[in-house]
Amino acid sequence: MKIAILGGGVTGLTAAYFLANNGHQITLMEKERVLGGLASGFKGNDWDWYLERAYHHLFANDYDILNFAKEIGFNKIFFRSPETASLFNDGTIIPLDTPIDLLRFPYLPLLDKLRAGIVIVFLKLSPYLPFYKRITSEEFLKKTMGNKVWNVLWQQLFRGKFGKYAGIISAVFIWARINKRTKALGYIEGGFQEFINYLEKQLVNLKVDIKNNFEIKSIEKRGDKFIINNISYDKIISTLPTPVLTKLTSSIFSKEYLSRFNKLKYLHAITLILETDKPILDKTYWLNICTDKIPFMILAQHTNFADKKNYNNKHIAYIGWYVDGDSKLLKMDKEEILNLVKPSLDQIFNFQFSILNSFLFKAPFAQPIFNKDFEENKPDFITPEKNFFIANLDMTYPYDRGTNYAVKLGKEVAKMI
Ligand SMILES: Cc1cc2nc3c(=O)[nH]c(=O)nc-3n(C[C@H](O)[C@H](O)[C@H](O)COP(=O)(O)OP(=O)(O)OC[C@H]3O[C@@H](n4cnc5c(N)ncnc54)[C@H](O)[C@@H]3O)c2cc1C
Repeated sequence: MKIAILGGGVTGLTAAYFLANNGHQITLMEKERVLGGLASGFKGNDWDWYLERAYHHLFANDYDILNFAKEIGFNKIFFRSPETASLFNDGTIIPLDTPIDLLRFPYLPLLDKLRAGIVIVFLKLSPYLPFYKRITSEEFLKKTMGNKVWNVLWQQLFRGKFGKYAGIISAVFIWARINKRTKALGYIEGGFQEFINYLEKQLVNLKVDIKNNFEIKSIEKRGDKFIINNISYDKIISTLPTPVLTKLTSSIFSKEYLSRFNKLKYLHAITLILETDKPILDKTYWLNICTDKIPFMILAQHTNFADKKNYNNKHIAYIGWYVDGDSKLLKMDKEEILNLVKPSLDQIFNFQFSILNSFLFKAPFAQPIFNKDFEENKPDFITPEKNFFIANLDMTYPYDRGTNYAVKLGKEVAKMI
């Protein structure tokens, strides 16, 4: 059986591994030169380790990827508990990682903090409830934790992550976020690309035909075969972003079927990576920005998590945004974005460091918007075409996308063939 897997991210690579292991003839197509998709990495001039284009870590309960790594003999995942903190209007950085941190938090009355703590424990213990889909995160958090907690802790985080969609994100998102998060975070010796390269080697051994630098521009159907670049396949698994797939399959699927995908909304991710001589943040790895005075959503000092010696003793920090398709940030080049962030770096962090190098990455359709209609419109493994399957990041719902779920989807879709 000839199977084409569209997209060489973690979902496609995992599906290829299980199917090739079962004796299928697999062709994997990826438009980029490097495999790995959203989790792929690159190396600065003098670094030993790869660095992801967008900040990446694992949670201690990411069992699908942890077990898969074991199964294929990959043993380079390690765990640490780096500090998470938040930056507030007055420029103070306050750790907000543990119940003690919450109790010590200065900007909320004790009663509000206790209430917020109880709701966090509830969400940690609660299974997924259909009720979460019927209410927005904002309504849920205001009702349960109170307006003040929403204003101080959550409002800006939701604006940063979801922009104009912040008010329509269903409570599924906040449930999944709190339910899944662990204090210990995992990283990979050598970077996530090391895992992807290892997986690629397994696929080469299993005789998977890997076509990188190969952008799929059309898919047709002739008889019961699918045709890509004049080659015919018996089955297709698409891991492409849904909007890309929708465009490519207008001659295969009905308008009615595709119209539900057109209702899905996405944001694009932008990351600016700064390589500096000194750290921007002393101790903190992950800094949530809880103030609208700073023109970005997240600052992650990667080298407070993974040792700087792996990057020739340079300090690495990510600055990140999620933006709408018409955002002016998407059109800006690296210098323009650097000029946008420099005044705040100066104002908040006093610029006691020099920027030695910088990198800018943009990833389209990287953040699906989980509104109340998302579940009924998102794609599913099975499509109206008998031999055409989908496994993509929209299908991690109710969980926010992640490499753990990419492995899970890749494994599950392989079982359907
Ligand atoms: C900012 C950000 C932070 C993240 N942080 C984390 C984290 O901390 N931990 C974590 O586990 N996960 C994280 N993720 C999510 C994780 O990277 C993804 O969930 C996972 O990599 C998705 O894998 P995938 O294979 O499903 O999709 P993708 O990686 O999107 O793979 C799809 C592939 O299809 C290719 N493609 C697209 N169009 C075509 C075409 N026409 N022809 C051929 N190929 C095409 C793309 O190049 C891509 O390689 C983050 C993602 C982002 C954007």
